Amino acid sequence: MAAQIIDGKAIAASVRAGVAEQVQVFREQTGRVPGLATVLVGDDPGSAVYVAGKQRACAEVGMKPFDVRLPADSSFERVAEELGTLRDDAEVSGILLQLPVPDQLDGPALTNMVPPEKDVDGLTPVNTGLLSLGLPGLRSCTPQGVMELLAHTEVELEGAEAVVVGRSNLFGKPMAQLLLAENATVTICHSRTRDLREVCARADVLIAAVGRPRLIGESFVKPGAVVIDVGMNRLTPEQAHNKSGLVGDVDFEAASQVASWITPVPGGVGPTTIAFLLRNTLQAAHRQAGIEQ
Ligand code: NAP
Repeated sequence: MAAQIIDGKAIAASVRAGVAEQVQVFREQTGRVPGLATVLVGDDPGSAVYVAGKQRACAEVGMKPFDVRLPADSSFERVAEELGTLRDDAEVSGILLQLPVPDQLDGPALTNMVPPEKDVDGLTPVNTGLLSLGLPGLRSCTPQGVMELLAHTEVELEGAEAVVVGRSNLFGKPMAQLLLAENATVTICHSRTRDLREVCARADVLIAAVGRPRLIGESFVKPGAVVIDVGMNRLTPEQAHNKSGLVGDVDFEAASQVASWITPVPGGVGPTTIAFLLRNTLQAAHRQAGIEQ
């Protein structure tokens, strides 16, 4: 295996340790701690696991978690009311509405009810607009985590060909913006891209966020490229052959033969997403307290 592994767990642990130290400083400066509210509507087991992880991580760095759970049949007005309460609560620095919400609810409309200064997911129109203008704001967590992973590879982004597969508002678009801000030449691919393999094979930095298990094989990877696998796909027990059952969008074994650096799944991008959620919450708390960073 040629590629070096990018250790997302270790990198995330170091970001979290930095946040924990700054939370302590914040407490000394203000007499308060940053608070992170998660809002989970319904009882989807996958979402419940994610929310539990965020709550735990929040407490571990000394922040105050607020765990809001609403029944699956909640009306739009009920969820909006809860978001309004959290918006007005000075102890809550950041609000995260866990997506997806049940079908009867309008997820984007609810997301837009999170005030931009507490939008620690970076998904509101204000924060996405600030990102595209290159102005300070809260950035989407997973793309920030990927930038941190790339920094550990010491890849030169300036002038590099970067290809992002996936154009979601949650990941693909903000990822492309962050790469562009570092002067990479960025291409975004999606389901209508004509020759995905050919476009990917040009990339010095290849980032896959598709949701298709092992779509990106060896022939998609330029020799020496840095490969970041954002995908998290749960296989059935039969498909997984008794292994963990969680695989990415990249065929790890095959791509590792040609890449210079690669993230594993699990243990790559996932841990850094939570670390940057904590960092965003701290950033929001600083802004709300009027503290320059
Ligand atoms: P999404 O909203 O479903 O977007 C998927 C994107 O992939 C779309 O832009 C889609 O194109 C594109 N696509 C689908 N099939 C394709 C194909 N065959 N060839 C090329 N492009 C294709 O998903 P997402 O929210 O961005 O998430 C993507 C993956 O990343 C999922 O596995 C998710 O679980 C994972 N994820 C992980 C983290 C983490 O913290 N580790 C965070 C976020 C997401 P169209 O736009 O044309 O439909």
